Amino acid sequence: MSAKLTFLGTGTSQGVPIIACECGVCQSPCREDKRFRASAFVEYGGLNILVDAGPDFRSQMLAARIRHLDAILLTHNHKDHTGGLDDVRSFNYIDKKAAEIYCEARVLKTLKNDYAYAFEEHKYPGAPEWHVHLIDDQPFRVDSLQGTGQLEWVHDVGYFYRQADGSLQPSDNAVVEAPRENPNVIPIRGFHDQMPVLGFRFGNIAYLTDMSRLPEEELAKLQGLEHLTLNTVGYHPHHSHFSLYEALDLAHVIGARHTWLTHLSHAFPRHQAFCEQLRALCREKGIRSEVLPAYDGLTITD
Ligand SMILES: [Zn+2]
Ligand SMILES: [Zn+2]
Ligand SMILES: [Zn+2]
Repeated sequence: MSAKLTFLGTGTSQGVPIIACECGVCQSPCREDKRFRASAFVEYGGLNILVDAGPDFRSQMLAARIRHLDAILLTHNHKDHTGGLDDVRSFNYIDKKAAEIYCEARVLKTLKNDYAYAFEEHKYPGAPEWHVHLIDDQPFRVDSLQGTGQLEWVHDVGYFYRQADGSLQPSDNAVVEAPRENPNVIPIRGFHDQMPVLGFRFGNIAYLTDMSRLPEEELAKLQGLEHLTLNTVGYHPHHSHFSLYEALDLAHVIGARHTWLTHLSHAFPRHQAFCEQLRALCREKGIRSEVLPAYDGLTITD
């Protein structure tokens, strides 16, 4: 089963350019130097899967002309990865389905704080409709939306679910455990400072972001990759992200054919210069993976 991943955002939490910054990278006219907040769109086994829905979600959906999402997987609870979830309302309306969100219990706890209005018993009409599927570090299954209840918008009243007998039931803010049989997604446990976060493997593509540490026991899940994505925000050691040199070391250890860097900041040079710098570093250090910066709109296939 082939996997295809499109980078919808490859920027650090502030994006690039950074508001009011006059540095050469933030002022670059090149398309590759304009980075939305980190997010990836994965087409896998007939499913449209989004990894993270940060503050640029709406612009990313429009730029990539995405018409339909089967699932939204969240790596962790930071706003640059969850801040766009209110905008699933457009998909609620078009698809007549709740958005299917897959996240860990600790992430759900934050969502309930950040988006209290989406979890109220008597919701404001038009608040986003979400189904939450709880996951952890064990493989789980993502399915298509077909088969879940159909949402109906009742003007000025809100969303309801049409039942088999024709009656309408109010939305239930369901939280369920993600199914584990016939898994199609392999989570990878990493740490963002001390905070546990998840990366995800789809076929021979793995997407890891917002990590500063990857426990050795996770490496077995990353064998035989065609494409690996790793996060880095700069050259110097950082408490919550890999430094560039840590990312290069990890790229070498994992040995995917290609390694793409994401969550990039303006600390790195403009795209072309950064590509040349990485090629030189890989040659010099004998890294057994082709390491390059990802950019918004880049598509990779395994
Ligand atoms: Zn982040
Ligand atoms: Zn800048
Ligand atoms: Zn983060």
